[in-house]
Amino acid sequence: GPILDIRGLEKTYKGGTKALAGVDLTINKGEIFALLGPNGAGKTTLIGAVCGLVNPTAGSIHAFGQDTAKNWREARRKIGLVPQELSFDMFDKVIRQVRYSRGMFGCPPDEARIEEVLRSLSLWDKRDAAIRELSGGMKRRVMIAKALAHDPELLFLDEPTAGVDVELRRDMWRQIDALRAAGVTIILTTHYIEEAEEMADRVGVINKGRILLVDDKEAIMAKL
Ligand code: ADP
Ligand code: ADP
Repeated sequence: GPILDIRGLEKTYKGGTKALAGVDLTINKGEIFALLGPNGAGKTTLIGAVCGLVNPTAGSIHAFGQDTAKNWREARRKIGLVPQELSFDMFDKVIRQVRYSRGMFGCPPDEARIEEVLRSLSLWDKRDAAIRELSGGMKRRVMIAKALAHDPELLFLDEPTAGVDVELRRDMWRQIDALRAAGVTIILTTHYIEEAEEMADRVGVINKGRILLVDDKEAIMAKL
Protein backbone atom coordinates (compact mmCIF):
# COMPACT_ATOMS: atom_id res chain seq x y z
CA GLY A 1 0.00 0.00 0.00
CA PRO A 2 0.93 3.67 -0.07
CA ILE A 3 3.39 5.06 2.45
CA LEU A 4 1.08 8.00 3.14
CA ASP A 5 -2.67 8.29 2.59
CA ILE A 6 -4.41 11.57 3.38
CA ARG A 7 -8.21 11.83 3.15
CA GLY A 8 -10.41 14.91 3.46
CA LEU A 9 -7.85 16.80 5.49
CA GLU A 10 -8.96 20.19 6.77
CA LYS A 11 -7.31 22.75 8.99
CA THR A 12 -8.94 25.93 10.19
CA TYR A 13 -6.70 27.99 12.47
CA LYS A 14 -8.14 29.71 15.51
CA GLY A 15 -8.18 33.06 13.73
CA GLY A 16 -10.50 31.52 11.12
CA THR A 17 -8.01 30.98 8.29
CA LYS A 18 -8.87 27.82 6.40
CA ALA A 19 -5.39 26.63 5.52
CA LEU A 20 -6.48 23.18 4.30
CA ALA A 21 -9.89 22.78 2.71
CA GLY A 22 -10.21 19.06 2.08
CA VAL A 23 -6.93 17.52 0.87
CA ASP A 24 -6.75 13.99 -0.54
CA LEU A 25 -3.25 12.76 -1.32
CA THR A 26 -1.54 9.39 -1.70
CA ILE A 27 2.23 9.03 -1.66
CA ASN A 28 3.97 5.86 -2.84
CA LYS A 29 7.12 4.37 -1.45
CA GLY A 30 10.32 5.55 -3.11
CA GLU A 31 8.92 8.50 -5.00
CA ILE A 32 9.88 12.15 -4.90
CA PHE A 33 6.71 14.18 -4.69
CA ALA A 34 6.68 17.96 -5.05
CA LEU A 35 3.92 20.07 -3.56
CA LEU A 36 3.96 23.12 -5.78
CA GLY A 37 2.09 26.25 -4.77
CA PRO A 38 2.36 29.94 -3.89
CA ASN A 39 2.97 31.35 -0.41
CA GLY A 40 -0.02 30.78 1.83
CA ALA A 41 -1.31 27.80 -0.19
CA GLY A 42 -1.21 25.48 2.81
CA LYS A 43 1.99 23.55 2.12
CA THR A 44 3.59 24.02 5.54
CA THR A 45 0.28 23.30 7.27
CA LEU A 46 -0.03 20.03 5.35
CA ILE A 47 3.47 18.97 6.36
CA GLY A 48 2.77 20.06 9.92
CA ALA A 49 -0.35 17.90 10.05
CA VAL A 50 1.56 14.80 8.93
CA CYS A 51 4.43 15.53 11.32
CA GLY A 52 2.16 16.12 14.31
CA LEU A 53 2.85 19.84 14.62
CA VAL A 54 -0.63 20.90 13.53
CA ASN A 55 -3.91 19.41 14.77
CA PRO A 56 -6.19 18.74 11.81
CA THR A 57 -9.76 20.03 12.08
CA ALA A 58 -11.12 17.12 10.02
CA GLY A 59 -9.94 14.22 7.90
CA SER A 60 -7.52 11.34 8.34
CA ILE A 61 -3.85 10.59 7.83
CA HIS A 62 -2.57 7.04 7.47
CA ALA A 63 1.21 6.71 7.50
CA PHE A 64 2.84 3.31 6.95
CA GLY A 65 -0.62 1.77 7.04
CA GLN A 66 -1.50 3.17 10.46
CA ASP A 67 -3.89 5.88 11.49
CA THR A 68 -1.65 8.61 12.91
CA ALA A 69 -4.50 9.81 15.15
CA LYS A 70 -4.32 6.43 16.92
CA ASN A 71 -0.66 5.56 16.82
CA TRP A 72 1.14 8.79 16.48
CA ARG A 73 4.59 8.10 17.92
CA GLU A 74 5.29 5.02 15.88
CA ALA A 75 4.53 6.82 12.63
CA ARG A 76 6.53 9.89 13.63
CA ARG A 77 9.66 7.82 14.23
CA LYS A 78 9.71 6.88 10.57
CA ILE A 79 9.34 10.49 9.41
CA GLY A 80 12.06 13.11 9.03
CA LEU A 81 11.39 16.83 8.66
CA VAL A 82 13.68 19.50 7.30
CA PRO A 83 11.86 22.71 8.22
CA GLN A 84 12.06 25.89 6.23
CA GLU A 85 13.94 27.86 8.87
CA LEU A 86 17.39 26.88 10.06
CA SER A 87 16.87 25.84 13.66
CA PHE A 88 19.73 24.74 15.87
CA ASP A 89 22.04 25.90 18.58
CA MET A 90 24.57 27.86 16.51
CA PHE A 91 27.25 27.41 19.17
CA ASP A 92 26.89 23.65 19.31
CA LYS A 93 29.03 21.23 17.31
CA VAL A 94 27.67 19.59 14.21
CA ILE A 95 28.01 16.03 15.47
CA ARG A 96 26.35 16.78 18.81
CA GLN A 97 23.31 18.28 17.14
CA VAL A 98 22.92 15.23 14.90
CA ARG A 99 23.32 12.83 17.83
CA TYR A 100 20.80 14.82 19.82
CA SER A 101 18.24 14.63 17.01
CA ARG A 102 18.58 10.85 16.92
CA GLY A 103 18.08 10.66 20.66
CA MET A 104 14.93 12.76 20.44
CA PHE A 105 13.22 9.90 18.65
CA GLY A 106 14.23 7.38 21.27
CA CYS A 107 16.71 5.67 18.96
CA PRO A 108 19.63 4.00 20.70
CA PRO A 109 23.00 5.72 20.22
CA ASP A 110 24.70 4.54 17.05
CA GLU A 111 27.96 6.32 16.26
CA ALA A 112 28.44 4.33 13.06
CA ARG A 113 25.08 5.60 11.77
CA ILE A 114 25.91 9.19 12.78
CA GLU A 115 29.19 8.92 10.90
CA GLU A 116 27.43 7.47 7.87
CA VAL A 117 24.91 10.33 7.79
CA LEU A 118 27.62 12.97 8.18
CA ARG A 119 29.79 11.37 5.50
CA SER A 120 26.88 11.09 3.07
CA LEU A 121 26.42 14.87 3.32
CA SER A 122 30.17 15.61 3.21
CA LEU A 123 29.98 16.92 6.79
CA TRP A 124 32.34 14.45 8.43
CA ASP A 125 35.34 16.77 8.24
CA LYS A 126 33.22 19.50 9.84
CA ARG A 127 31.82 17.32 12.62
CA ASP A 128 33.56 19.24 15.40
CA ALA A 129 32.90 22.68 13.96
CA ALA A 130 30.42 24.98 15.67
CA ILE A 131 27.41 25.40 13.40
CA ARG A 132 27.81 29.19 13.31
CA GLU A 133 31.22 28.70 11.61
CA LEU A 134 29.66 26.93 8.62
CA SER A 135 28.58 28.41 5.30
CA GLY A 136 24.88 28.67 4.48
CA GLY A 137 25.05 25.55 2.33
CA MET A 138 26.74 23.53 5.04
CA LYS A 139 24.16 24.72 7.58
CA ARG A 140 21.42 23.42 5.32
CA ARG A 141 23.22 20.08 5.10
CA VAL A 142 23.30 19.92 8.90
CA MET A 143 19.52 20.39 8.88
CA ILE A 144 19.23 17.38 6.57
CA ALA A 145 21.65 15.36 8.71
CA LYS A 146 19.50 16.10 11.78
CA ALA A 147 16.39 14.94 9.94
CA LEU A 148 18.09 11.71 8.83
CA ALA A 149 19.73 10.77 12.13
CA HIS A 150 16.87 8.45 13.17
CA ASP A 151 16.72 6.67 9.78
CA PRO A 152 13.34 7.94 8.55
CA GLU A 153 11.65 6.19 5.64
CA LEU A 154 9.78 9.35 4.67
CA LEU A 155 11.45 12.75 4.52
CA PHE A 156 9.77 16.14 4.25
CA LEU A 157 11.75 19.07 2.90
CA ASP A 158 9.87 22.35 3.36
CA GLU A 159 11.02 24.85 0.73
CA PRO A 160 14.55 23.40 0.68
CA THR A 161 15.90 26.06 -1.66
CA ALA A 162 13.84 29.15 -0.83
CA GLY A 163 16.10 32.20 -0.80
CA VAL A 164 19.29 30.37 -1.75
CA ASP A 165 21.52 31.15 -4.69
CA VAL A 166 21.75 29.05 -7.85
CA GLU A 167 24.85 27.17 -6.76
CA LEU A 168 23.34 26.20 -3.42
CA ARG A 169 20.14 25.15 -5.10
CA ARG A 170 22.08 22.80 -7.37
CA ASP A 171 23.85 21.40 -4.33
CA MET A 172 20.52 20.76 -2.58
CA TRP A 173 19.18 19.04 -5.68
CA ARG A 174 22.21 16.75 -5.73
CA GLN A 175 21.68 15.91 -2.05
CA ILE A 176 18.01 15.13 -2.67
CA ASP A 177 18.94 12.88 -5.60
CA ALA A 178 21.35 10.99 -3.38
CA LEU A 179 18.62 10.48 -0.78
CA ARG A 180 16.31 9.07 -3.42
CA ALA A 181 19.06 6.69 -4.50
CA ALA A 182 19.30 5.56 -0.87
CA GLY A 183 15.62 4.61 -0.97
CA VAL A 184 14.11 7.45 1.06
CA THR A 185 10.63 8.60 0.03
CA ILE A 186 10.67 12.39 -0.29
CA ILE A 187 7.99 15.05 -0.19
CA LEU A 188 9.23 18.54 -0.87
CA THR A 189 7.38 21.81 -1.05
CA THR A 190 8.34 24.53 -3.44
CA HIS A 191 7.02 27.58 -5.18
CA TYR A 192 9.56 27.18 -7.99
CA ILE A 193 8.16 25.33 -11.01
CA GLU A 194 11.71 24.57 -12.13
CA GLU A 195 12.41 22.82 -8.83
CA ALA A 196 9.37 20.58 -9.20
CA GLU A 197 10.44 19.87 -12.77
CA GLU A 198 14.04 19.12 -11.83
CA MET A 199 13.41 16.94 -8.79
CA ALA A 200 10.00 15.32 -8.71
CA ASP A 201 8.48 12.14 -10.12
CA ARG A 202 5.00 13.46 -9.39
CA VAL A 203 3.74 16.93 -8.67
CA GLY A 204 0.70 18.15 -6.75
CA VAL A 205 -0.39 21.73 -7.39
CA ILE A 206 -1.86 23.28 -4.24
CA ASN A 207 -3.62 26.61 -3.84
CA LYS A 208 -5.90 27.99 -1.12
CA GLY A 209 -5.82 24.74 0.81
CA ARG A 210 -6.89 22.59 -2.12
CA ILE A 211 -4.93 20.27 -4.37
CA LEU A 212 -5.89 21.29 -7.87
CA LEU A 213 -3.92 18.72 -9.88
CA VAL A 214 -1.80 15.67 -9.16
CA ASP A 215 0.06 13.94 -11.94
CA ASP A 216 3.39 12.81 -13.29
CA LYS A 217 5.80 15.66 -13.69
CA GLU A 218 5.62 15.61 -17.48
CA ALA A 219 1.81 15.75 -17.51
CA ILE A 220 1.76 18.61 -15.00
CA MET A 221 4.34 20.60 -16.95
CA ALA A 222 2.25 20.19 -20.10
CA LYS A 223 -0.80 21.59 -18.26
CA LEU A 224 0.87 24.58 -16.57
P1 ADP B 1 -3.60 25.36 16.43
O1 ADP B 1 -5.07 25.55 16.10
O2 ADP B 1 -2.95 24.31 15.58
O3 ADP B 1 -3.34 25.23 17.89
P2 ADP B 1 -3.26 28.17 16.48
O4 ADP B 1 -4.48 28.65 15.77
O5 ADP B 1 -3.28 28.14 17.97
O6 ADP B 1 -2.90 26.71 15.94
O7 ADP B 1 -2.04 29.05 16.00
C1 ADP B 1 -0.78 28.97 16.63
C2 ADP B 1 -0.20 30.35 16.83
O8 ADP B 1 0.30 30.93 15.59
C3 ADP B 1 -1.22 31.30 17.34
O9 ADP B 1 -0.64 31.99 18.43
C4 ADP B 1 -1.49 32.21 16.20
O10 ADP B 1 -1.80 33.50 16.65
C5 ADP B 1 -0.17 32.27 15.46
N1 ADP B 1 -0.39 32.72 14.06
C6 ADP B 1 -1.45 33.41 13.63
N2 ADP B 1 -1.38 33.67 12.33
C7 ADP B 1 -0.26 33.10 11.88
C8 ADP B 1 0.36 33.00 10.61
N3 ADP B 1 -0.17 33.54 9.50
N4 ADP B 1 1.51 32.34 10.53
C9 ADP B 1 2.06 31.79 11.62
N5 ADP B 1 1.52 31.88 12.86
C10 ADP B 1 0.37 32.52 12.99
P1 ADP C 1 2.49 27.81 2.65
O1 ADP C 1 3.41 26.88 3.36
O2 ADP C 1 1.97 27.23 1.36
O3 ADP C 1 3.06 29.17 2.47
P2 ADP C 1 0.96 27.84 5.12
O4 ADP C 1 0.50 26.47 5.43
O5 ADP C 1 2.14 28.36 5.84
O6 ADP C 1 1.16 27.97 3.54
O7 ADP C 1 -0.24 28.86 5.39
C1 ADP C 1 -1.55 28.63 4.90
C2 ADP C 1 -2.48 29.71 5.45
O8 ADP C 1 -2.64 29.51 6.86
C3 ADP C 1 -1.95 31.11 5.30
O9 ADP C 1 -3.07 31.96 5.11
C4 ADP C 1 -1.27 31.39 6.62
O10 ADP C 1 -1.25 32.76 6.92
C5 ADP C 1 -2.17 30.63 7.58
N1 ADP C 1 -1.46 30.15 8.79
C6 ADP C 1 -0.36 29.38 8.81
N2 ADP C 1 0.00 29.07 10.07
C7 ADP C 1 -0.93 29.67 10.88
C8 ADP C 1 -1.13 29.71 12.28
N3 ADP C 1 -0.31 29.07 13.12
N4 ADP C 1 -2.18 30.41 12.75
C9 ADP C 1 -3.02 31.02 11.90
N5 ADP C 1 -2.90 31.02 10.55
C10 ADP C 1 -1.87 30.35 10.05
